[in-house]
Amino acid sequence: MATLDVNVEVSARHVHLSQEDIEKLFGAGYELKVKKEIAGGFVAEERLTITGPKRSMERVAILGPARKGTQIELAATDARSLGVDAPIRLSGDLAGTPGIKLTAENGNSVETEAGCIVAQRHVHLSEEDAAKLGVEQNQNVDLKIDTGKKRALVFGDVIVRIGGPVSVVHLDTDEGNAACTGRACVGTVIAE
Ligand SMILES: [Zn+2]
Repeated sequence: MATLDVNVEVSARHVHLSQEDIEKLFGAGYELKVKKEIAGGFVAEERLTITGPKRSMERVAILGPARKGTQIELAATDARSLGVDAPIRLSGDLAGTPGIKLTAENGNSVETEAGCIVAQRHVHLSEEDAAKLGVEQNQNVDLKIDTGKKRALVFGDVIVRIGGPVSVVHLDTDEGNAACTGRACVGTVIAE
């Protein structure tokens, strides 16, 4: 058994937009404004209201740049509140997922045909760290989080994504709230 401590990042609900949907919402040739650079892209200044069968959620973050397909990443609690049956999927795996209504502050809206997912928890590992753990792409590992504040938890089914400069675990807010306390959180990846 091999273990490795890795930083944990918790992502709140957010939307990635296709260029087509950006233009439907904001106008022809529109480019999202960069509010803050993050790994692999940026948080946009623009925000959206997402509306499901049961309710709306306002001021949802958009992450740029534009992607091939519009993707709405929700925590399971968000999906339940909105009334959408979002499946647990890896980013980009959108076939057969439910759509939702997206509305910009200018009043323009778009009904997506698909795109709502609950992101499958995963760990990005550098090539070096993957070798240390002896794990392969798409393998499942466990993740133990114990911040010493009575919320110790071991997650199974954490999928390995190899590549990128820095190793980091990505959880959603349900998972983060269940196990992490405070802003900084470190987990231990456990590979058989
Ligand atoms: Zn990720």
